[in-house]
Amino acid sequence: MLNYPILWDSGIYLPELGLWLDPRQPRPRAVISHAHSDHVAAHPLAYATPATRRLVTHRRPSLTTVQGLEYGQPLRLEHCSLTLHPAGHVLGSAQALIETDWGAILYTGDLKTRSGFTSVPAIPVPADVLLLESTFGKPHYRFPDSAEVIAAIVSWCRSVIDSGATPVLLGYSLGKGQEILSALAAEGIHIALHASLFGVTEVYRELGCRFPQYQVLGAALVRPTVVITPPTARRNGLREMLGEFKTAALTGWAMDPSLKARLEVDAVFPLSDHADFEELCCYAERVGATMTYTVLGFDEELAMHLRRRGIRAKALTAIDQLRLF
Ligand SMILES: [Zn+2]
Repeated sequence: MLNYPILWDSGIYLPELGLWLDPRQPRPRAVISHAHSDHVAAHPLAYATPATRRLVTHRRPSLTTVQGLEYGQPLRLEHCSLTLHPAGHVLGSAQALIETDWGAILYTGDLKTRSGFTSVPAIPVPADVLLLESTFGKPHYRFPDSAEVIAAIVSWCRSVIDSGATPVLLGYSLGKGQEILSALAAEGIHIALHASLFGVTEVYRELGCRFPQYQVLGAALVRPTVVITPPTARRNGLREMLGEFKTAALTGWAMDPSLKARLEVDAVFPLSDHADFEELCCYAERVGATMTYTVLGFDEELAMHLRRRGIRAKALTAIDQLRLF
């Protein structure tokens, strides 16, 4: 199994099976682990969970070639079977288990092992080869308890409101935004969502998620309100709409001391939709693969730390003889 060809070319390729995992460019047949745009391309044939398929078509209505595959239901393909398992990252996110005659390969996609509000946490699936994401694959990315982080965010929002300004929380339209919205549910604070986040949240609701009341940003705003907006939209007329406001970035990168200055925000909070360093290492231990390839992120660093813990690991991009050019 260790010599089974697994290649990297802006995505993972299993040539014996003719199957790609999250390729950035269109490929003949691919698994889309979740609906974030850096994992989606217009493949002639793709497999994803029904929720991911719905979220993908919300953003790209012309992409009609995604075939829905429920969690835990094996799909028989030539030379292998494909089963999707929850990855905990965003609604619909999946790990892909590919079982062949030579053994089982588990690709995590983006992974979160803590409980979130809108997706089922990832549970380790035993496999012979693990393809592990490594977004936060450096030791200083150790996130505090989520409840503490949420309490700090709420307290910051209240203090901003008390000062007469509007708190603006920055989070991606798909996943992070809905997590923030859910986190504020118990607080009784009025919430306004940027239009792109509002649209995705409506799809989340259609897929069965429940949220506190919210309105779309731009309509007559009820005050005081907390605004949730994607980071890219923070400079688009917020001053005219809100008057005085303060911004906070909610991201795992908040563990970097320089982030606040780099993003030019008033506050940062380490609320992530990924596993932190320790969770990634524990995950690899619990999967118990004979070989772990790290992908997507601090792959070299994470592989090195896994080897120090006695796990056979390598960055997939570092395997020159197997690399596609
Ligand atoms: Zn993602």
